Amino acid sequence: MGTLTCHYKRAGSEAPDEVLTRFRTLARRHAGGRVLDIGAYQPDDLLCYRNLGSLALVAADARLLAEPPPGAEFVDTGLERLPFPAGAFDVVICRFALCATPDPCRAAREIARVLGRNGHVLFLEHARAPGVIGQAQDQAQRMLHGTRHCRLNVEVVANWQLVGLVMRRLDWYWPPCYARAPLVQGVATHPDQRYRQELAWLRGTEIPGGKP
Ligand SMILES: [Zn+2]
Repeated sequence: MGTLTCHYKRAGSEAPDEVLTRFRTLARRHAGGRVLDIGAYQPDDLLCYRNLGSLALVAADARLLAEPPPGAEFVDTGLERLPFPAGAFDVVICRFALCATPDPCRAAREIARVLGRNGHVLFLEHARAPGVIGQAQDQAQRMLHGTRHCRLNVEVVANWQLVGLVMRRLDWYWPPCYARAPLVQGVATHPDQRYRQELAWLRGTEIPGGKP
């Protein structure tokens, strides 16, 4: 598939500095071990990557190829099928990437697959808003379908949850001046073992108290 560029990565329509700074701080705090970065587009995005075990860059802006961080590997791939084994990464960083891929849910599933059991996904995306704004986004998306615009109405949190990840942290940012998609950033992980067992139990047994 062709490579779409997210609206927020284009010159003149960047996400607010405070949001980008907050996300980079989050990334700096978590980045360690084996890292997969999806969608880096500014040199500052790569500043936190020192002393890593390994760093794979997917869907990175071509300008970043000029000065890659030490040991970084640029991997040319779509997100629907990532060329890495299951559990390959301790941290996956995902920046304005789900909106630019043809099938965000499948991309989320692939990211969950390559995330190690105790790994973290850090994401910053624009998302479908609830209520009327979300409906307007759906309508706009229908009109834009087939154009070179990134997808306006990705249900970011629902996508992570659909593929089995749980939210450890979630921050929304609503642009103050004009109606645009809200931005959402957060940390998602696999559920811990105990939680997984509880979920299986809830799904596979009768409701407690239902029996005499
Ligand atoms: Zn986008």
